[in-house]
Amino acid sequence: MPVTIEPWRITGQPEIDSYVGRWAELAVLLVNVLAVDASHGRRVTPPQTGEERLAAILAGLAAAGRPAPGPAQTGPAQTGHTDTGLTAAGADRLAEIAAELRPLYGAGDRLPEAAERLNDLLARHGAVPTVYADDGKLKLAFHRSGATLVDAWAADMGTALAMVAGVGQGARLGACEAATCSLVFFDTTRNASRRFCDLSCQNRAKASAYRARRRT
Ligand SMILES: [Zn+2]
Repeated sequence: MPVTIEPWRITGQPEIDSYVGRWAELAVLLVNVLAVDASHGRRVTPPQTGEERLAAILAGLAAAGRPAPGPAQTGPAQTGHTDTGLTAAGADRLAEIAAELRPLYGAGDRLPEAAERLNDLLARHGAVPTVYADDGKLKLAFHRSGATLVDAWAADMGTALAMVAGVGQGARLGACEAATCSLVFFDTTRNASRRFCDLSCQNRAKASAYRARRRT
């Protein structure tokens, strides 16, 4: 697995890079937890009910060291909205969103098609540039003030992926190339050369390529 040499820079603006990185990584997490049917060489059944999905999301967030969702994390949404976190119904909606985002990863030639669906998602969830004050400092977000947590997440994740795909960096939305693994990742290597979700899939793919060579 290639080592990440330096954080990838879109704009040279650390605030925007950190926005894109944060939401692109959340999109990866939700897709992997809610919308893949194969992982590390095994078929898997994604969680099916709202409760299962909610538990899977919270476990995924905890494993990634991200705090569980609360209103304080959604930026401008904290003003005048009543959502106090994620519910089972919200988890169901996030599963739909994750399934819609999945085609953007490893899309290759199908990226324009996937981008059209992304545009629909951005419109549906009210993605809009917003500036809000946080601790007396202005911050940038891409969801409406008062948005629900699900709409806010969809708008911010979708915007981050649009910022990646729309500046010729769509190849950084990667899908594991190992057999029977459809996990996705955000490729931050210098030359966007990452091919596998992790080292175990890379080793598995190498071993099977070696066996194939031996046979011929
Ligand atoms: Zn993999």
